[in-house]
Amino acid sequence: MKKIIIAIDGFSSCGKSTMAKDLAREIGYIYIDSGAMYRAVTLHCLEQGLFEGDALDTERLRADLPGLDISFRLNPETGRPQTCLNGRLVENDIRTMTVSSKVSPVAALDFVREAMVRLQQQMGRQKGIVMDGRDIGTTVFPQAELKIFVTASPEIRARRRFDELQAKGEPGSYEEILHNVEERDRIDMTRAVSPLRKAADAIELDNSHMTIPEQKQWLLEQFRRVAAQE
Ligand code: C5P
Repeated sequence: MKKIIIAIDGFSSCGKSTMAKDLAREIGYIYIDSGAMYRAVTLHCLEQGLFEGDALDTERLRADLPGLDISFRLNPETGRPQTCLNGRLVENDIRTMTVSSKVSPVAALDFVREAMVRLQQQMGRQKGIVMDGRDIGTTVFPQAELKIFVTASPEIRARRRFDELQAKGEPGSYEEILHNVEERDRIDMTRAVSPLRKAADAIELDNSHMTIPEQKQWLLEQFRRVAAQE
C-alpha cells in the first residue's frame, strides 16, 4: 500500500496528539508533534533570557535559530517520540505552563515559522507520516492525502489539560489554564502568518463528547478509507 501524509490540525489541548500518536503507532507511520518544535524554541528563549517580561528579543532569537537543533528520539519504553533540544531531552520541560504561556507569540514570528515549516517538510519527504499542529494541512503539507481538523469547547479542553497537569503534579489552576487555552486560540487564529484555520478539504471532528477509544476508531476508519483509494 502506498504511504500517505496525514495532517491533523486544530485548537490547543483538543487531544490531537493523543489521536495522532496512537494512529501512527497502529499503522507504523512516523509521528511528529509540530507544536513541540515551537515549544522547544520557546524553551530556548526562556532559558537564554531572551524574554524580559512579555517582551522578546527577536533579533537574538533570529541569530540563535540556525544553531538550534530540534529533533525527536523514540522512548524505548513507550515507543513514543520525545523532543530534544540540542541533543538534550526536553519533553517534560516544554510542557510547563510557563512555556505554554509564551509559545504562541514565538510561533507567530515569520522567521520562526519559516524555519520550522522547512524542517517539518523535510521530515515528511518520505511520506508515511502523521503530523499534528495548526497549519499542517494548510501550509506544511497542502497536498496531504488525509486532513483532519479537530475542535472541542474551550472548557472541555481546559479540563483535559488541567487533569493532565494534575496527574503529573504540575502546578496550574483550571481558570489559569482556561485563560491560556482561549488566549492561544486567539493568537493562533489572528496571526498574520499561517493562522489556524480549517483547510477547505479537511474533515472536521468535534470530539467534545467522544472518548479516546472512539476517536481512535474514527481516525483509523478515515485512514483506511483514504489509504484504500491510493
Ligand atoms: O500543539 P501545542 O499546543 O503543543 O502547540 C503549542 C503552540 O505552538 C500552539 O499554541 C501554537 O501557538 C503553536 N503551533 C503553531 N503551529 C503548529 C503547531 C503549534 O503555531 N503547527
